[in-house]
Amino acid sequence: MAKREDYKCSFCGRSKDEAEILIAGINGHICESCVAQAQQIIGEELFQKKDQQFSFTLPKTIKPIDIKKFLDDYVIGQHEAKKVISVAVYNHYKRLNQKSDDDVEIEKSNIIMIGETGTGKTLLAKTIARYLNVPFAIVDATVFTEAGYVGEDVESILSRLLQVCNYEVQAAERGIVYIDEIDKVARKSDNPSITRDVSGEGVQQALLKMLEGTDVYVPPQGGRKHPEQKMIKINTENILFICGGAFDGIEKHIAKRVKAQVIGFSSGSEDEVIDRDNLLQYISPQDLKSFGLIPELIGRLPVLTYLDLLDREALKAILTQPKNALVKQYKKLFEFEGISLEFEPAALDFIVDKAVEYKLGARGLRSICEAVMTDAMFDLPSQKNVKTYTLNLEFVQGKLSKSKLKKLKVA
Ligand code: ADP
Repeated sequence: MAKREDYKCSFCGRSKDEAEILIAGINGHICESCVAQAQQIIGEELFQKKDQQFSFTLPKTIKPIDIKKFLDDYVIGQHEAKKVISVAVYNHYKRLNQKSDDDVEIEKSNIIMIGETGTGKTLLAKTIARYLNVPFAIVDATVFTEAGYVGEDVESILSRLLQVCNYEVQAAERGIVYIDEIDKVARKSDNPSITRDVSGEGVQQALLKMLEGTDVYVPPQGGRKHPEQKMIKINTENILFICGGAFDGIEKHIAKRVKAQVIGFSSGSEDEVIDRDNLLQYISPQDLKSFGLIPELIGRLPVLTYLDLLDREALKAILTQPKNALVKQYKKLFEFEGISLEFEPAALDFIVDKAVEYKLGARGLRSICEAVMTDAMFDLPSQKNVKTYTLNLEFVQGKLSKSKLKKLKVA
């Protein structure tokens, strides 16, 4: 048997003196640096395996109705948007599997969603990507500027997608990109002859080709292109782009157009009753143009849909119903501590009322819940005999002072 001082790492051969630590096995040893290396290799291998789990075909049994059903589990309301997206995605897959010699070429069904912030646009895009199990990246259109100005080039949209799928170009080429705040690149005026505006039209122009489908040279790390940086070529033909934006004030344009139409075709029929509280439902590409998107860009986003404002019922449902609803998440967290958590219905109603009263929306529900739950989550895990805990109205009222809610609003 080898003497203690003769022990070596069986992988790299370093002796006991050279290595910091030698771990003994049945028939050999391993040093700390070989352990670290092995861990890195395992990490990389597992990551690659994860990549391979992406799937790029839709099982034949899946129909648009099934896609919508899945969305229903996570997204409350927004039935029109869910229906439109389900069909668009379904057709996207039909297109992917279309034979190249077919006469009728199906065009890409990139999507644009209009709806106030916090109504579920990102959630919809995220959920659809999860359902399809394809690489998914979220980018914010506000960081892009025309080439030559400070900011990121639009190509960096694809860098995010590449990073998500560990630089597997083939996977990225079939992913989904969600471009948030697309309204922020709108031209400031409907008049095309207006002098250049830095963030607007140039960025829209830059997006055109990418949305339609072309080879794009992408800086792997994102940001701006540097001449010395090695670029990766990505074809965007099969990438589905989903754009979203609040389009603040677009109702004005819709109202004007709808009113003009009603006057123009006045026949006294019932169809003319316009629901003024929800003008977004009448949105048309023309309104996007009036808002400041260029017609070419609108043309490349052929699927247009809208999201409803969330009312009290919807907020209550968001709190309790989706598969990963906030209430379910808190229950789960307490379950890990062996505590069964219950919410008094009146307490939940109070939370929703405050979200409505302070116009905090769905995003605010989370902040309110955190404000309510933090103390309970801090104290209860260290209290021995607590097996059940019911959150009542008094407790919630106590935690949500007026000043606290006002602060949440700023956030
Ligand atoms: P948007 O992209 O429209 O600004 P998000 O999708 O980011 O809004 O929504 C913010 C959060 O609010 C989401 O993470 C989700 O928890 C909640 N939420 C918003 N709308 C809905 C909805 N319709 N159904 C369920 N949860 C929602």
